[in-house]
Amino acid sequence: MDQRLDVLFGENVFNEAVQKKMLPEQVYLELKSVQNGEKELSRETAEIVADAMKEWALSKGATHYCHWFQPLTGITAEKHEAFLKRSDHEGKALLGFSGEALVRGESDASSFPSGGLRATFEARGYTTWDTTSPVFVREDASGMTLFIPTALFSYKGEALDKKTPLLRSIQALNDQALRLIRLFGNTTSRKVVPCVGAEQEYFIIDREKYLKREDLMFAGRTLFGANPPKGQEMGDHYMGTIPERVGRYMSDVNEELWRLGVPAKTQHNEAAPAQHELAPIFEEANIATDHNQLIMETLKTVAGRHNLMCLLHEKPFEGVNGSGKHNNWSLSTDDRINLMDPGKAPHDNLQFLLILTCMLRAIDKHAGLLMASAADVGNERRLGGHEAPPFVISVFLGTQLADIIEQYVSKGDATSSIQGGSIATGIQSVADFERDATDRNRTSPFAFTGNKFEFRSVGSKDSIAEPNVVLNTITAESFQEAADRLEKAEDFESAVRALIREYATEHYRIVYNGNNYSKEWVEEAKKRGLKILTNMVDATKELTAPETVAMYQHFGIYTEAELQSRAEIKYETYAKAMHIEARTMIDMAGKQYIPAIIRALREYSRSVIDVRTAVPTADTSVQEYIISRASVRLREAQETLERLIRETAEAEKKAEGLEQAEFYRDRIVPLMDALRHPFDELEMCIDRDMWPVPSYSDLMFEI
Ligand code: ADP
Ligand code: MG
Repeated sequence: MDQRLDVLFGENVFNEAVQKKMLPEQVYLELKSVQNGEKELSRETAEIVADAMKEWALSKGATHYCHWFQPLTGITAEKHEAFLKRSDHEGKALLGFSGEALVRGESDASSFPSGGLRATFEARGYTTWDTTSPVFVREDASGMTLFIPTALFSYKGEALDKKTPLLRSIQALNDQALRLIRLFGNTTSRKVVPCVGAEQEYFIIDREKYLKREDLMFAGRTLFGANPPKGQEMGDHYMGTIPERVGRYMSDVNEELWRLGVPAKTQHNEAAPAQHELAPIFEEANIATDHNQLIMETLKTVAGRHNLMCLLHEKPFEGVNGSGKHNNWSLSTDDRINLMDPGKAPHDNLQFLLILTCMLRAIDKHAGLLMASAADVGNERRLGGHEAPPFVISVFLGTQLADIIEQYVSKGDATSSIQGGSIATGIQSVADFERDATDRNRTSPFAFTGNKFEFRSVGSKDSIAEPNVVLNTITAESFQEAADRLEKAEDFESAVRALIREYATEHYRIVYNGNNYSKEWVEEAKKRGLKILTNMVDATKELTAPETVAMYQHFGIYTEAELQSRAEIKYETYAKAMHIEARTMIDMAGKQYIPAIIRALREYSRSVIDVRTAVPTADTSVQEYIISRASVRLREAQETLERLIRETAEAEKKAEGLEQAEFYRDRIVPLMDALRHPFDELEMCIDRDMWPVPSYSDLMFEI
């Protein structure tokens, strides 16, 4: 890096400083009011802003602009337009970028998933500028382009993207949260916004090896592969020294992100071999969501430049940890009061306790929906396994808060807060230090971590929009209920205490402070009547459950049709992903594994003959044993393969949607798992030079 970090940070962003410099003061102030939702954007302002953006982008070397949006594929989309107008009569280029082009884009959106919201012939889609997320210039092989974050709508005005519901949910939460804090006497804050810091886990492997594995290329994960002798059991990769090749890669990733104003902060090796993490500093949920997309895209593109491959799949390798995205979530006012901060004596902090118990109510009421927001084809293989949260939602509060809530449940009030105290180091030259009031619990899907909640179930390759839409909306719903009741109360303080008591008691079942990885917890969760949703298909049904539809409609986040279409897309995505996985397995088994095994068996058979010819009395029982054992496995594999081929053909005939998704889940997935086993065993008894693809050791340890 040849520039100082503070100089290059945000260099490619049309940020506050640039806006102040390039816009007339009146226009700048008007834009601020638009961002705060206090005013509509006028045509004149849009013209002036667009012109300033164009001048700024051109000065950065940009040739194009694009409306950047987040369709329901979960990744982002962009269509570049040059800043060219028709040339003048002398043939000289005229450059332009109008207010209209900034604010509204129109294009053919028919190839993006709409889940039946729109017939294929109804192709028009509109993108519209999200003024709350900063525009930026970004360089790729096609040159420098001005990116304008936008929302995507159909011709009839239905949301076709991830951003629209997120913005709506942020608004709903703001409305209700303001009501609550006003009741507690706050008259100065103008806004309450959800803040999000999404820790991103990923795997890095060598690109040449990646290209030799169809499963990684087509499915993003390994569909076969025997475990190496060593996995993550020694714990020696976690936070260990970053390998040099990966370090150089991380340095480039950071530089690129910093230029885009993405506050990449933390990096370290994760638990599994070849696994790493990048965590940014938290930001407003909308920006954090856009930035997480930029993080994922940057991780992938920069990897290519280093001849590496970044795997964002939730479970690229069986037998070691998968990747998630820890969605840290809190509520902050515009004047930077963190509403999730319990303070030194939380038992006395009624506003905090009300917010906390509102959260317990929200999570308990909508645990299924929260689970659904993390449900994803890949995540289904991660959750419930190797150090990943289980398929059931619960809340970890920690010693201090759990104790306060228990006091409320048992005696209707809380009179004390357990304190952390200090830790004596026992070393004169090393100072004693304060301990947090609560330890961490890394097994919980939804943990309170000091001044925020950490939702740990989210999948590594997913947009964080959906989990945050759920968190914002279910919180807004509970806040609304609380505000409705408290606004009518005669004695505010006793009404608050009564409400805290009521919520704590009614929703105590969602609190669990033990080990969420244990089998006992799943049993306990069943007893408590908590929802266990072990697969994406079942979880998706939550999207169209009556209480979900009612809540979303009430706050104007989604219409029923929008929810149904989103569920439909998820069913289709599941079926398509499983179809691709099945076909990839069929391809690899038939064209690579079986021929390679047959070749290897021929070698062993030749060896039997050759050895016997040379020394008629020699013992060839080892070769013979391997041949006969491998042949049995091979036959088993062939039989399963044939069944998988038949069933996959059957699956294709099913009606698209829920029925097909269920068929894949119940019939195809078990067969795929069954097909893997014989090949993984065969891999262990065949000469590694004859194995047709790089092994787990090659992929995870040789970087
Ligand atoms: P951990 O030790 O839990 O892995 P990290 O430092 O990797 O912690 O990540 C914690 C994440 O939580 C960061 O993205 C951080 O910015 C974010 N975070 C910290 N405070 C808040 C807050 N008040 N609201 C939302 N996110 C927060
Ligand atoms: Mg972390």
